[in-house]
Amino acid sequence: VKDFGRDGFCKFSQDLAEAVDERLALETALRQALRENQLQVHYQPVIDLAQGRMVAVEALARWRHAERGEIAPCSFIRLAEETKLILPLGGWMARTAIGQFRLWRERGMELDYVSINTSGIELFDPGFVDGLFEALDEHGLEGRHLQIELTENVLMQDYEACRRVLLRLRQQGVRIAIDDFGTGYSSLAYLKQLPIDMLKIDRSFIKDVPGDPGDCAIVETIIAMAHRLGLATVAEGVETEEQEDYLLAIGCERLQGYRYARPLDPVSLERLHADSVRQ
Ligand code: C2E
Ligand code: CA
Ligand code: CA
Ligand code: CA
Repeated sequence: VKDFGRDGFCKFSQDLAEAVDERLALETALRQALRENQLQVHYQPVIDLAQGRMVAVEALARWRHAERGEIAPCSFIRLAEETKLILPLGGWMARTAIGQFRLWRERGMELDYVSINTSGIELFDPGFVDGLFEALDEHGLEGRHLQIELTENVLMQDYEACRRVLLRLRQQGVRIAIDDFGTGYSSLAYLKQLPIDMLKIDRSFIKDVPGDPGDCAIVETIIAMAHRLGLATVAEGVETEEQEDYLLAIGCERLQGYRYARPLDPVSLERLHADSVRQ
């Protein structure tokens, strides 16, 4: 404390004040963006190799701030979680994605489901499940047309509550995927106790296959385990042909990544889908 001289302290409190200001400013801006409908949803295709087509899309939030430009989801989603703004944000994302999916199906696009990212705060919110069922109902869709993506950490927060919510969703056929699989803190026991459909293998394990023997061991083990448990797998972050060839060879049925498409605005996604069908 002795060396923490006056200047040092001023600098410290100034930095802190700036950080607090910055956070508040961002929070205010996010509230406004939500109120004024300034967020957007982009969609990234999920490719099924055996079927050779886009079978699903993942909805990802986008925020273009008037002055700051594009703000990365990882920063505003975290802020939204800390401020509970994730509840209105997530509700809006789900309704928008479900509405878009209905439009696409009406126009003859053959997609099996749309996938949305779900934070723990949303999952444990009492209105969460009913909100999803209402949105599906409103658009004449069934549970199987929707997938929610949860991280392992969410499952570990409150296992019993999680189980109840997931069973309700499962009863209506909503698909449940574990996102970023392999990166969280969790036991594997939940895989046989919870109604899980899909493991999304985190990009960090995919990045260096097939070159890195350690990553290959992990990815092959996840896929073998998933299959024995009757779960499907999606590899995230596939960027190269080598990765694709390898993943195909080891039996990973679904792929997602820049090799196929970046997350796209709805018009671009629809165009890509049309082109891929025409081929
Ligand atoms: P995520 O759910 O793991 O989403 C995949 C992220 O990887 C996306 O980043 C996507 O653009 C990126 N990605 C996809 N393919 C590739 C690839 O081949 N290479 C590389 N380098 N990256 C790829 P994005 O859109 O920036 O989203 C970041 C994270 O923010 C998401 O990670 C998700 O955790 C969160 N997020 C985004 N939208 C929502 C939302 O609506 N609700 C919630 N709760 N979280 C969201
Ligand atoms: Ca995800
Ligand atoms: Ca992921
Ligand atoms: Ca993530």
